[in-house]
Amino acid sequence: MGYTSRMYRRPANCQRDRKALIVYPKAPLNTKFGYISPVEPDASGERFIVSLAGCGGDYAPSTEEGFLEHAKQLARPELYEYLRTLTPIGDFSHFRFIENRRRRYEAMTNCPEGFMAVGDALCAVNPIYAQGISAIALELRVMEKCLAGGLDGIGRRYFKKVAKTIDVPWFITICEDFRYPHTKGKRPFFAGFLNAYTGKVLEASGASSAVWKTFLYVLHLVKYPAVLFSPHVVFAVIKTTLFRKEPLVTKQ
Ligand SMILES: Cc1cc2nc3c(=O)[nH]c(=O)nc-3n(C[C@H](O)[C@H](O)[C@H](O)COP(=O)(O)OP(=O)(O)OC[C@H]3O[C@@H](n4cnc5c(N)ncnc54)[C@H](O)[C@@H]3O)c2cc1C
Repeated sequence: MGYTSRMYRRPANCQRDRKALIVYPKAPLNTKFGYISPVEPDASGERFIVSLAGCGGDYAPSTEEGFLEHAKQLARPELYEYLRTLTPIGDFSHFRFIENRRRRYEAMTNCPEGFMAVGDALCAVNPIYAQGISAIALELRVMEKCLAGGLDGIGRRYFKKVAKTIDVPWFITICEDFRYPHTKGKRPFFAGFLNAYTGKVLEASGASSAVWKTFLYVLHLVKYPAVLFSPHVVFAVIKTTLFRKEPLVTKQ
């Protein structure tokens, strides 16, 4: 996954109740991703960051025209339409993410005394799913509980417990990544079914804020993925599948 990002001036007439504009990929049909989000103001006023991403070498170019063209090819037109109206205030910058990485410290037979790790040092997952900070919060909760039990064997106890916590974002990420034709590795057994189902949940989110919230709770690790099978979500998925008429995605 490769990101190209740039800062823009946030227009004075920008609606304040809009927090961010995100267009998710509709892999494998469309693997481009983009978002516009407010960031801290500089001395001259408020700013947006605009990031466009793609995978397998399909990165947004660092040229005015190429960047806009990448935005135009997103699965939905709204981001492109808005981006065209913004004024850039900086250069393009790049970030490449080539692999999900998990360090199995819990398998160490001789864990050094007092050694612990959090965040990307423990598990770094595809940033597109925005789980890194949530995972860290959960890891620190586990750490806090372990510290309450004293320092004796702290690393061994912590890594054993935190491994279960990380299983959730790790599983979500590797399943989701198998939507992309470029992904290599061991495909989880249920990935095909889960990806097809969560794709439908995402479609149903367009018509139901309750479904969207449930999806975000799972993505941000507030609730377990099983809530995606609660009755209101399943009902919305069936409704969307049976009655949606217009296509949801623009082909690349
Ligand atoms: C493009 C992108 C978008 C993301 N979007 C989201 C999102 O929307 N939501 C979300 O939750 N997460 C997101 N993430 C993931 C999130 O940023 C990371 O999971 C999180 O920052 C990891 O925190 P960390 O402290 O473990 O590592 P880092 O934030 O990488 O911090 C490590 C620090 O250590 C420093 N360092 C490295 N080596 C040394 C050394 N030898 N000596 C001294 N210092 C050193 C580095 O410079 C860095 O400052 C995103 C990540 C990327 C790359």
